[in-house]
Amino acid sequence: MGTIRERGEKLFSGELSPREHHPLQPTGESEEVADGVVFFRWLGNFTAVKTADGLVLIDTGAYFNQRGTIEMVRRHWPDRVNTAIYTHGHVDHASGAPALAARFPDARFLKMPWPERDSRWPAAWEGLVDGTAIAAGDDTLVTVHTPGHAPDHLCFWHEASRTLFCGDLAVKGTTVYIPPNLGGDLTAYLASLERVLALRPARLLPAHGPVIDDPETVLRGYLEHRREREEQVLDALRRGDRSADAMVTRIYRSLEDTLVPIARESVLAHLLKLEREGRAGRREEAWHIIDP
Ligand SMILES: [Zn+2]
Repeated sequence: MGTIRERGEKLFSGELSPREHHPLQPTGESEEVADGVVFFRWLGNFTAVKTADGLVLIDTGAYFNQRGTIEMVRRHWPDRVNTAIYTHGHVDHASGAPALAARFPDARFLKMPWPERDSRWPAAWEGLVDGTAIAAGDDTLVTVHTPGHAPDHLCFWHEASRTLFCGDLAVKGTTVYIPPNLGGDLTAYLASLERVLALRPARLLPAHGPVIDDPETVLRGYLEHRREREEQVLDALRRGDRSADAMVTRIYRSLEDTLVPIARESVLAHLLKLEREGRAGRREEAWHIIDP
């Protein structure tokens, strides 16, 4: 368990290269997705909304290059930054906040509190809760608490265009990492997917990878994927696997070594969900199935 936590901590504190983590490489492109709204494809995408009062930025994380966000914003718009909003406290989302705060001391920094994580990125954080309305010029973004990938995870909903700034809730072409040892919770994630589906978004702007124009397909695909994975975990338990490691070997064939800890966390996320539902149990870390 120690190595999972260690690797996960490194991943989300920035000591591991994002190239080891994200299958989708940043392109450096920017796309004007609406009038005055620019979506930057980068080490963690971010969005800039141009308003009369300055820029509103959504996620400005920059891994090792914390000044990079500022340079990119200045290249496009030299305006001042009014507000920076964050979907969650992982390094690739929130680590750019201190550099931004130093450059724009009047800017506001908003996210849902996750105190142990937020203290790594010092800024004058203001806390968001579910349902907070945030002004972005003439537009309003409403927070939607979507835990699962991280406990503080928020999406930002723009009702008028039915656009959801979805952070790490969804990434086109791959699944989302749910690390129980780092606050991940599969039960919560599945509920978050259902909640977002019920909003009937027309478009998702994720923090990694391209714009998602078919949200329902992607979100339903995720739910189906987790149902299938759960069946595989139940099958492994029935066959006598007692540890997450054994299940990883059975379920993920020919997995690269570097991905094993991530797969182990995913299996553990399923086991904890099954345990909560009374369908699996453990004695001294040896898992077993509980048949109805
Ligand atoms: Zn994340």
